[in-house]
Amino acid sequence: MSNTSIPLDVAAAEEHLMRFLSVEGVTGHEKNIGLAVCDALKKIGVPESAIRFDDANKRIPLPTETGNLIVDIPGTRPGPRLLFSTHLDTVPLCAGAKPKRDGDRIVSDGTTALGGDARTGVALLVVVAETLLKHKLPHPPITLLFTVREESGLHGARELNPSDLNGAEMCINVDGQMASELIVGAVGQENWEVEIKGRASHAGVAPEKGISATLVGAMALAEARQSGWFGKVVKPDGRGTSNVGIFGGKDNKPAGDATNVVTDYAFIKGEARSPEAAFATKIATGYKEAFAKAQSEVTDDQGDKAEVKFTHTPSYPPFELGKDTAIVKRATKALQILDIEPVYVFSNGGLDANWLDKHGVPTITIGAGQAEIHTIKEYVNLKEYEKGCRLGILMATLED
Ligand SMILES: [Zn+2]
Repeated sequence: MSNTSIPLDVAAAEEHLMRFLSVEGVTGHEKNIGLAVCDALKKIGVPESAIRFDDANKRIPLPTETGNLIVDIPGTRPGPRLLFSTHLDTVPLCAGAKPKRDGDRIVSDGTTALGGDARTGVALLVVVAETLLKHKLPHPPITLLFTVREESGLHGARELNPSDLNGAEMCINVDGQMASELIVGAVGQENWEVEIKGRASHAGVAPEKGISATLVGAMALAEARQSGWFGKVVKPDGRGTSNVGIFGGKDNKPAGDATNVVTDYAFIKGEARSPEAAFATKIATGYKEAFAKAQSEVTDDQGDKAEVKFTHTPSYPPFELGKDTAIVKRATKALQILDIEPVYVFSNGGLDANWLDKHGVPTITIGAGQAEIHTIKEYVNLKEYEKGCRLGILMATLED
């Protein structure tokens, strides 16, 4: 197929997008948007028997209305099974969004985000299915995957049972901005948290009898920065980033509640990212050592120290596809047909692609016009959406 022979119905593609943008479905509440997608698929001729929800929501440790939506489209020619994926959920800032057309854009009314992240992907998957069926285009077997709870921690993709993908050999994930940008890798992340139990004492009468949990925390963070573990981390054996996100007390309250009491409790939570899982762990370990050092330096007048409980746990694994991977070659070839110069991107944030790759399905992420995501300025660039739809149709139909 050449660029000009791609039978994309632009008006129908925009209609699907407008419809999906108008259905609320913030992370964890994907039931209505899931049903809207099922409706759209049935209307374009996908049999009900090919559409199902998995039970990933039973394994997700947060309340989640529904599982991932999975749809099988039989091939009309042989070839390795292709997976097309995107996420159903939007960030909470999208609740109540009222999408409207504004020239070459779809925008919100300026009080909410829009949800083009990733409803552009949701619409694109439906457009690909519709175009294949309507024009009887030759294609290998295809599975569509619409995940839940991507925005709150990549949960749907993580808890997916890989055998539900029917042996898909490669995946096109739609969750990006520009059609020219191919996301071929992403960092992994380690989360860490620490609980510091000091001892309260009257800060005016007997400060020497107290052990300040706040001071332990503050000294530890200064030490972590001094040792090169805070913010952008560049060491001879690796690189990454880290951040301290929360510094507080019990139950989301502040650390301490009066100026005249030595703070007896503090809770700190942060993250570390790196293209190497082991180096993300190493950054977290750097924080652990900084807290141990601060613990040894803050004592009461008897030499007693605070209790420090530091834990860290992997959040998602990193991945990187080689240029010679079948899916990267396929995307590159499709962009060439569209006369678009590919830009290969390594993402500093996790995507469903991290888990799909971990599940054994090499996954490239393409863009379809989402822009200024997670803000009230969010919009959809319809020119990029159209390019993304063409790219999707080409990737579904290219000869291997
Ligand atoms: Zn997204």
